[in-house]
Amino acid sequence: MWWMGRQRAPLSGSSTPKVATAAKILFITNVHLAYPDPSFACKLWSVECREGNVVRVAPYIEGEYNPISFARYEIDARGGILLPSLCHSHIHLDKCFILDRCELIFGDFKEAMSVTGSAKARFPLDKEDLLSRGRKLIHESVDCGVTSMRAHVEIDDLVGFSGLDVALHLKEEAQLACHIQIAVFAQEALFSSAGDAEPGSNFRLLAEAVMRDGVDAVGSAPYVEPTIEQAKKNIELIFELASHASLTLVDFHLDYNLDPDSEPLIYEVVKQARKYCPAWKSHGPELFRRHITIGHATRLQLFTPKEWRHLQDAIGDLPITFVGLPNSDMYMQGRSQAGEPLGAPRSTLRVPYLSDKYNIQIAMNVNNVENAFTPQGSADPLALCTFGAAIFQAATKTDIQTLAKSVTITSKVAIGQTNVPLELYPQRGDIADFVILHGTQTLRQAVLNSPYDRTTIRNGIVVAHRRTRRWTAIKELPVSNTVDPISWWWYLLFPVSWPFLLLDNWASGPPKFLIS
Ligand SMILES: [Zn+2]
Repeated sequence: MWWMGRQRAPLSGSSTPKVATAAKILFITNVHLAYPDPSFACKLWSVECREGNVVRVAPYIEGEYNPISFARYEIDARGGILLPSLCHSHIHLDKCFILDRCELIFGDFKEAMSVTGSAKARFPLDKEDLLSRGRKLIHESVDCGVTSMRAHVEIDDLVGFSGLDVALHLKEEAQLACHIQIAVFAQEALFSSAGDAEPGSNFRLLAEAVMRDGVDAVGSAPYVEPTIEQAKKNIELIFELASHASLTLVDFHLDYNLDPDSEPLIYEVVKQARKYCPAWKSHGPELFRRHITIGHATRLQLFTPKEWRHLQDAIGDLPITFVGLPNSDMYMQGRSQAGEPLGAPRSTLRVPYLSDKYNIQIAMNVNNVENAFTPQGSADPLALCTFGAAIFQAATKTDIQTLAKSVTITSKVAIGQTNVPLELYPQRGDIADFVILHGTQTLRQAVLNSPYDRTTIRNGIVVAHRRTRRWTAIKELPVSNTVDPISWWWYLLFPVSWPFLLLDNWASGPPKFLIS
């Protein structure tokens, strides 16, 4: 279940969900926190929030916070763990839940573009469908603990502004529960054919879209251009558009291949960022910083240590963050190696390894839910951590921290969000954007086997509450106090064994039929 925060919150102790619309003070009690120090992590804590910020974190004392007015709310976490809320740093709002209209035969990228193109052709004809699918994605995401997302909506000849119109509507609908940062995005080529020196109609539509109120970011997929020169020009055009529209957030689907002979386009992004970024200034209330986000980048998996260090030096102090999209990357890449003994390689950015080896922080996100690019997986970013533990072979204490940060703190940094907490445990002054994982006491459990039951808090307000309803036919039976059957030779020794036989009959009662 999911609430948009319009209901009044029941007080502490009620079994019904607590939803606050104007909570000035929120107490989260009886909760575990993700401290790296085990002596702190094993204790229970209380977190006091006022006006949407953390003002106090203290050891839990039972009964300390009894709500005494309607302006005070308490959530008794009953020993669950509190983490920073989750963030979708890269998700497609318009082409989710369309797998039922996409027939997969080869499952490759070309086919995904083709069948998705057919589905997209109907978007402008059925905005209700766009609305209900997008709304479902937002509801499911907030239920999981997501309070902010970068939502890509495609702009091109096929869909026009249909996806954008719906996204703007959903942004307003969900504003209390989740900040939806809209990125207008060219999945299709900006240049119509290889010989074109100037971009075509897709670019003109994108240039119009960036000027719409409510648009926060602009992005493209340069690898779909007919030539490498046009791909580079695509990158430059996107920076130009952002600057023209006073946007300071740019997002590229980049280097989405495993071809060692292909030129990594990340260096073109670095080159254009050096040219345009210094002039970008923040506007109004600083909800977002300037930032450049790079999705996929699977080609970088082939980098040698020397190439990684070279890239690190090239990026320097530029605000660039990579976002690995493991559900899509693993499904789509490496298909040419299907016939090899071990099949396709692990083809998504190694989040814990790159963090440990090169101190490169990489976010992880979902990308798509139920479409031809990513047919499998849910909207839950925490599920990626569980998947990541396997594909990265990463479950040490440091790995767990890095994986958890990749879907919370690092994802928020990747979309240029401000007020990002520094740590996985709350500190005074942090914004009160949290997810409580119920029935889970440790960060390790949260990452390796995340629970269904969750409470989502944004700006100190409970905005979603998800609980399992159980029904089961399993009946717990009492365990019988079985004894070993008496062997026949005990009776042969009756003159000496009779006290034991009497005692056994007295203790065990009537004869038992033992099932082995
Ligand atoms: Zn994407």
